[in-house]
This record gives sequence, C-alpha cells and structure tokens, in this order.
Amino acid sequence: MAQRYVRIQDKSGAIHYGLFQLDHSVLLLSDAPWLGGQALDTAITETDYQLLAPCLPSKIVAVGRNYQAHAAELGNDVPAEPLLFFKPPSAIAADQQGIIYPPQSQRVDYEGELAIIVGQTSKHLTPDQAANAIWGYTIANDITARDLQRQDSQWTRAKGFDGFCPLGPWAVRHISPDALLQTFINEEEEPRQSSPISDMVFSPATLISYISQVMTLVPGDVILTGTPEGISPLSVGDQVRVEIEGIGSLVNQIMAPSEEYWLCLLYTSDA
Ligand code: MG
Repeated sequence: MAQRYVRIQDKSGAIHYGLFQLDHSVLLLSDAPWLGGQALDTAITETDYQLLAPCLPSKIVAVGRNYQAHAAELGNDVPAEPLLFFKPPSAIAADQQGIIYPPQSQRVDYEGELAIIVGQTSKHLTPDQAANAIWGYTIANDITARDLQRQDSQWTRAKGFDGFCPLGPWAVRHISPDALLQTFINEEEEPRQSSPISDMVFSPATLISYISQVMTLVPGDVILTGTPEGISPLSVGDQVRVEIEGIGSLVNQIMAPSEEYWLCLLYTSDA
C-alpha cells in the first residue's frame, strides 16, 4: 500500500500532519510533508483524532472543460488553452463531512476530479520542470451550483460556497497515469462518472506550467484538473463518493441548510 499522508485534529484541538498506519493510527510528522516534515516518535490512535482535508492551500486553482466528453455534455468545446478559475480555501471540506445545499441554488452538481498538490515554489516553469513540482495527489469534488454558474459570468459564487471543495481522504505521492476516476451516488452499483485520468486534455504538468506563467504556486497549493463526463444533480440526503484508483474514496453527504447548526457543532475548528 502506498504511503498515505493525512492531516488531523487531536482532542486538544491541535492540528497535525501525519502518516496513516494500517491500524488507522497516525504517526505524526514535524511539518507538512511538502515542507519537508519528518516522522516523529508520536502516534495518535484512531479514536483520538478527526480526519481533516489533507492540505490547507493558499489557493485552489481549478480547470474547466479539461475532458472532451464533459465539455460536450454541457454544450461546450474544449478550450484552446486551459480555462482557469478559483475556489476559495474556505470551501474545503474533509472526507465524511456534510455539505450544505445552499438555499440560493436549485441545482447542485458533483464533479469528481483528480487534485494535484504542489511541492515547490513554482513560477514560469516549463512542462518538464512542472512535472517535478508535483508533490502528490488527492481526490476532489468540485461541487458546483450549476444554475448560478449559468446565471453569472464569473463562477466565484457557483463554485465558492462553504463545503464545495471536499478534498481527501489523504494524499499519495504517485498514481498511475491511466488511473480510473469514478463517482457513485448512494448505493448505486453503476458509476455516474467513469473515465481514466489519461482522458484529460491538458496534463497535470502542462496545467502547472501554464498556471505558473500567471501566478506563483507555493508548496501545498492545490490544482483541480477538471471533471470527466457524467455530471448530474445532487439532492439533500444524497451521499456522493468519488474514487480514484491508487488513492481511495472521498465520501460526503448533502445536507439541508437547516442542518448547518449541527455541522457547526461537529466542525468547530479553524482548520
Ligand atoms: Mg470542475
């Protein structure tokens, strides 16, 4: 099993990076792994921590229409150059965290995506250099209020609600270039999305190189690489599971706005 890198909160409220062990305990690291964190002597057992998203980036740069069949299903062509937008770090949610269905929207979609975690300060990189700037990968769900996306010329509102960027459950250093990405709803056996990440139009290295011509990426920053075809709407009560071969699965439940009070009690950290 590939090493799994996690971020957790212990019962005192302290936040740690660590290595997820076979018995589900976490061996603590001295710092974020992309900042050179080294394994310490301390482990925290499964009952004594809560799993957080594996990173807390300074920015999340997302890419639209990076799979030809998905661009087509929304009536779009693949752009000649990567189409970039931001999601705010405040949108990040952990694996198993509830996601509030915002009252402003009548259509909220899942978008299963491969997320890249940047490993070095990156500015004006060539694609070859950019390949070395990738620290690792996790799973993302680029949750989108589709009606608001169509209504607004900028996507900030449609893509930026709290909870609209689940990441996790952990990060890994390497994945197969043709790893399968699948998204499942509830107990359905048939995936709603099922595509190899090799179907991407612009590769991870090309994306990082392109973005680094515009803005400096720093270690821990996250790039969402776009979703394959098969998007569809979610309802309150749905459970959405994004799986990527070689990483694992990211599971979140959609909750009514009236349930937000309970979510606040569950997630009171500043993480
Ligand atoms: Mg997307």
